[in-house]
Amino acid sequence: MNAAADLKSYIRDIPDFPKPGIMFRDITPLLASAGAFRSAIDRLADQYRDARIDVIVAAEARGFIFAAPLALALGAGFVPIRKPGKLPFDKHSFNYELEYGSDTLEMHVDGLQAGQRVLVIDDLLATGGTVRACAQLVERCGGTIVGCAFAIELLALNGRKIIEPYEVFSLLQY
Ligand code: 5GP
Repeated sequence: MNAAADLKSYIRDIPDFPKPGIMFRDITPLLASAGAFRSAIDRLADQYRDARIDVIVAAEARGFIFAAPLALALGAGFVPIRKPGKLPFDKHSFNYELEYGSDTLEMHVDGLQAGQRVLVIDDLLATGGTVRACAQLVERCGGTIVGCAFAIELLALNGRKIIEPYEVFSLLQY
């Protein structure tokens, strides 16, 4: 399997989920296919093989799914970002606005060493709010963000714009 078109055939479109008017891009068929999942991780790894990534950072839950195998493929560590109240040690918190209300993400204060080279990853880039929160937490710990990578990017929402000047890479675009 080589072309992005092949990988795209493993993404299932679910209309009106989680609410009317939203077209949800469901990655579970891709994850369930040994070949498609490996291909996605291989392609992400190829993109960053020479980037000297020290740590992959990702937010729960779907970000973790890509982060752990990619960390192993790149010889990098993995640092989780979680919803409030889940991490056991001292943490940094970042609160960010959503369409309705707000959300908070947390990362351990010692998750990163200052100057470590970090790749932030998530399954999907929509408005960019989630990845921006992750980037803020990484910067608070003194990490250097090398890039932000996604399995899927929703181009119409222009999430790239709010995470400028970070470099963005995505496997599949809609
Ligand atoms: P953003 O913060 O960029 O607006 O939204 C991205 C976050 O929402 C990601 O963590 C992603 O898991 C989730 N998300 C939003 N829409 C979708 C979707 O259509 N499919 C999937 N798989 N995740 C989505």
